[in-house]
Order: sequence, then C-alpha cells, then structure tokens
Amino acid sequence: MTEWFEWRDAPASARFAVLGDPISHSLSPDIHGAAIGSNGEYVALRVPAGELDSAIRLLQELGYIGVNITVPLKVEALQLCRVLDPVATRVGAVNTITLGTRSGANTDVAGFVASLNGRSIQSALILGSGGSARAVAVGLDSLGPRLACWARSGSDAVDRLARETATAVESVTSLRDIRLYDLVVNCTSASMQGASLPVEWEGANPDALAYDLFYGPSKFLEGAATHGLSTMDGKEMLILQAAVAFEIWHGRQAPLDAMRRALA
Ligand code: NDP
Repeated sequence: MTEWFEWRDAPASARFAVLGDPISHSLSPDIHGAAIGSNGEYVALRVPAGELDSAIRLLQELGYIGVNITVPLKVEALQLCRVLDPVATRVGAVNTITLGTRSGANTDVAGFVASLNGRSIQSALILGSGGSARAVAVGLDSLGPRLACWARSGSDAVDRLARETATAVESVTSLRDIRLYDLVVNCTSASMQGASLPVEWEGANPDALAYDLFYGPSKFLEGAATHGLSTMDGKEMLILQAAVAFEIWHGRQAPLDAMRRALA
C-alpha cells in the first residue's frame, strides 16, 4: 500500500504527484521515486472527481512541476489543459500534465506500443471500450494490424470508440473466435475486480499473446496460460508510460533499469 495524502494536505516539499481516486494502490510513486533517486519528491494524492481544477491550482501555488492523472480523472484533466498533444486529443484523455504551461499529454499510448517491443501483430482483439481501450486502439492503429473490439455494453460503445479515436475497429459481440487473433488485450477493469470475462480460449492460436493492462495475476491471464498462450501483465506498460512522463518533465532519458527494479 502506497503512502498517500488528501490533495488539500499535499506536502509542500514534493514536486510531482499522481492524482486519482482511489490512489492507495498506485505504483507511480515507487517508479518515479526510483527514477528521480529520492523518495518524497513524487507523492500520491487522492483527488475525487470534480475537484481536479482546485487541486491543480493548489499544487501550482506549492511549486509542483508535474502530475500524472489516473482513474477517474483522465477526461476531466483533458478539459483543464491549455495545450494538448495530438495523441491526448485523439484518445480523449490526459495522463500527464506539466503544470507551468498546463500542457497535457497521453503517455499511455507510447507506453503500450513500446511494451510490445516490436512484436509483429497481424490481428488484434481489444476487450473493453473505456480510457485504456481508446489508448490501446490508437497505439495499435499506428502499427497496422486488423483491429476488433468487444465491449460488454455492446457495439454502440465500440462504434463510439472507433469514431472518436478515428480508428478502423470492427465490433465483435462474441468471444468465441479467439483463434483469429495473435494479440488479445484486456482493457476492461474486470481483473481489478477479480472478475472473469467470457473469453473462450479453446482453439486459440498458441503463438498469440494475451495481454492484461491490469498489473498482477488475473483470471484472464490464468485462462490464457492454461491454453498455452504467452501472457503479459500491465507492469511494463506502466513503467514505459512513466518513462515518457519522466522525459517530458526532466528533459533527460529515464533510468529504465532503476524504474523496473522498483517494481521487481
Ligand atoms: P475505464 O473505467 O475507462 O474502462 C473500463 C472498461 O472496462 C469499460 O469498457 C467497462 O465497461 C469495462 N468493464 C468493467 N468491468 C467489466 C467487467 N466485469 N466485465 C467486462 N467489462 C468490464 O478504465 P480504464 O480503461 O482506465 O482501465 C481499465 C484497466 O486498465 C484497469 O485495470 C487499469 O488498472 C488498467 N490500466 C493499466 C494501465 C497500465 O499502464 N498498465 C494504464 C491504464 C489502465 P462499461 O463501459 O460497460 O462499464
């Protein structure tokens, strides 16, 4: 459990923070603390939905330099930025703000793409249609595979994702034909809830990768591993999106080894 503060009690000695609600589970203070080389300069602050503007104003007064944004504030953050990078605009969510200029970026896209480490993908299935699914769709779109998406709320949610992120994503309503894909990415919060998804792994392509953005073991990855697929959780993406945020704020290459060691 990470040490965290209510945003009104933000320590004046810190310069960076991750903002969200809940925030006690966040690993960002560990990763950024290791990258900066000092604990206490990057802290976790609980900011309920609707309070982000006030929190950011206080942090600016205290001299904070940058903040990461997590659930449920990424869309609210987009609306509060004066300058947006084109990726954040396309995804419709901001996860990194530089406070001096109120510039917003979305580093989840670059973090996700880098985490695939050049893997060749012809056909990918995205599960979910929320913020991370939008980031993954934009990231995969830049790599060129055929894209399909399943959402429990149905094809309207997928059509909206496709339209708003300008990606060619086909909507699928059943998870029976998993053999069609060489990448299946779980972008739902099912794993966070300890819940299962109705994926039928039987007959899946054994060379496929099952990727869960959640960091830690999950029923989704257990099911895939049982059927012989390679698996990956969300830790590497988390580290790589933090590395891009670090580079925006500090203007130098992120010390990836130290950041990975922080989560080992
Ligand atoms: P959102 O709340 O924006 O979206 C969640 C999505 O999951 C929605 O489509 C929702 O459907 C769906 N969903 C929720 N519960 C279930 C369920 N039981 N079965 C099927 N679908 C479900 O969340 P995010 O996209 O921001 O985050 C999703 C996951 O990704 C979280 O586990 C988060 O920790 C992880 N994540 C990891 C990152 C990393 O760097 N590794 C970065 C960002 C996120 P509906 O709309 O119908 O409610």
